[in-house]
Amino acid sequence: MDVHCTTCGEPWDTYHLWHDAIWDTGLSEAEIRAWEKLPQSGKLAPKWRQQFEAACYVFGRTVINVIRCPACPKDAQPDRAKVQINAEIENLLAGDEDGLAATYEDHGL
Ligand SMILES: [Zn+2]
Repeated sequence: MDVHCTTCGEPWDTYHLWHDAIWDTGLSEAEIRAWEKLPQSGKLAPKWRQQFEAACYVFGRTVINVIRCPACPKDAQPDRAKVQINAEIENLLAGDEDGLAATYEDHGL
Protein backbone atom coordinates (compact mmCIF):
# COMPACT_ATOMS: atom_id res chain seq x y z
CA MET A 1 0.00 0.00 0.00
CA ASP A 2 1.17 3.51 -0.75
CA VAL A 3 0.75 6.67 1.30
CA HIS A 4 1.81 10.12 0.15
CA CYS A 5 4.06 12.74 1.68
CA THR A 6 1.90 15.65 2.85
CA THR A 7 4.47 18.16 1.66
CA CYS A 8 5.64 16.94 -1.75
CA GLY A 9 3.18 14.18 -2.66
CA GLU A 10 5.90 11.52 -3.04
CA PRO A 11 4.36 8.03 -2.74
CA TRP A 12 5.84 5.84 -0.01
CA ASP A 13 5.26 2.16 0.34
CA THR A 14 3.99 1.42 3.84
CA TYR A 15 6.23 -1.66 4.12
CA HIS A 16 9.23 0.55 3.45
CA LEU A 17 8.16 3.00 6.14
CA TRP A 18 7.53 0.25 8.68
CA HIS A 19 10.69 -1.75 8.03
CA ASP A 20 13.27 0.02 5.87
CA ALA A 21 13.15 3.76 6.52
CA ILE A 22 14.86 3.24 9.89
CA TRP A 23 17.95 2.09 7.97
CA ASP A 24 18.20 5.58 6.40
CA THR A 25 19.00 6.98 9.82
CA GLY A 26 22.48 7.00 11.31
CA LEU A 27 21.53 4.41 13.93
CA SER A 28 23.69 1.35 14.44
CA GLU A 29 22.38 -2.07 13.52
CA ALA A 30 22.04 -2.96 17.21
CA GLU A 31 19.94 0.16 17.82
CA ILE A 32 17.78 -0.59 14.80
CA ARG A 33 17.23 -4.16 15.98
CA ALA A 34 16.15 -2.75 19.35
CA TRP A 35 13.82 -0.30 17.59
CA GLU A 36 12.23 -3.13 15.61
CA LYS A 37 11.22 -4.85 18.84
CA LEU A 38 9.43 -1.81 20.24
CA PRO A 39 5.66 -1.68 20.33
CA GLN A 40 4.16 0.65 17.72
CA SER A 41 3.55 3.27 20.39
CA GLY A 42 7.26 3.47 21.23
CA LYS A 43 8.65 3.74 17.72
CA LEU A 44 8.40 7.51 17.53
CA ALA A 45 9.63 8.38 21.01
CA PRO A 46 11.68 11.63 20.89
CA LYS A 47 14.99 9.78 20.62
CA TRP A 48 13.89 7.98 17.45
CA ARG A 49 11.99 10.93 16.01
CA GLN A 50 15.20 12.94 16.18
CA GLN A 51 17.05 10.27 14.19
CA PHE A 52 14.31 10.18 11.57
CA GLU A 53 14.32 13.97 11.30
CA ALA A 54 18.08 13.94 10.73
CA ALA A 55 17.32 11.62 7.79
CA CYS A 56 14.67 14.12 6.53
CA TYR A 57 11.62 12.18 7.67
CA VAL A 58 8.96 13.96 9.73
CA PHE A 59 6.03 11.81 10.81
CA GLY A 60 2.73 12.34 12.58
CA ARG A 61 1.91 9.87 15.34
CA THR A 62 2.87 6.91 13.16
CA VAL A 63 5.57 6.33 10.56
CA ILE A 64 2.97 6.01 7.81
CA ASN A 65 1.75 9.59 8.31
CA VAL A 66 4.57 11.23 6.33
CA ILE A 67 4.66 14.99 6.85
CA ARG A 68 8.09 15.54 5.30
CA CYS A 69 10.32 13.09 3.47
CA PRO A 70 13.76 12.90 1.87
CA ALA A 71 12.18 13.73 -1.52
CA CYS A 72 10.81 17.09 -0.30
CA PRO A 73 12.25 20.24 -1.87
CA LYS A 74 14.20 22.12 0.78
CA ASP A 75 11.79 25.01 1.31
CA ALA A 76 8.53 23.18 0.62
CA GLN A 77 5.81 23.56 3.23
CA PRO A 78 3.33 20.85 4.19
CA ASP A 79 -0.26 21.16 2.97
CA ARG A 80 -1.96 22.35 6.19
CA ALA A 81 -5.38 20.93 5.30
CA LYS A 82 -3.89 17.52 4.54
CA VAL A 83 -1.82 17.55 7.74
CA GLN A 84 -5.05 18.11 9.67
CA ILE A 85 -7.02 15.44 7.80
CA ASN A 86 -4.20 12.91 8.19
CA ALA A 87 -3.93 13.65 11.91
CA GLU A 88 -7.68 13.26 12.45
CA ILE A 89 -7.80 9.94 10.63
CA GLU A 90 -4.74 8.87 12.59
CA ASN A 91 -6.49 9.68 15.88
CA LEU A 92 -9.63 7.81 14.84
CA LEU A 93 -7.66 4.71 13.90
CA ALA A 94 -5.12 4.86 16.72
CA GLY A 95 -3.58 1.43 17.25
CA ASP A 96 -4.79 0.09 13.89
CA GLU A 97 -1.94 0.88 11.52
CA ASP A 98 -3.13 -1.53 8.83
CA GLY A 99 -6.53 0.16 8.83
CA LEU A 100 -4.82 3.52 8.76
CA ALA A 101 -2.68 2.55 5.76
CA ALA A 102 -5.76 1.27 3.90
CA THR A 103 -7.70 4.44 4.69
CA TYR A 104 -4.87 6.71 3.52
CA GLU A 105 -4.52 4.68 0.35
CA ASP A 106 -8.27 4.69 -0.34
CA HIS A 107 -8.33 8.47 -0.10
CA GLY A 108 -5.07 9.07 -1.95
CA LEU A 109 -3.54 10.59 1.18
ZN1 LIG B 1 8.07 14.79 0.72
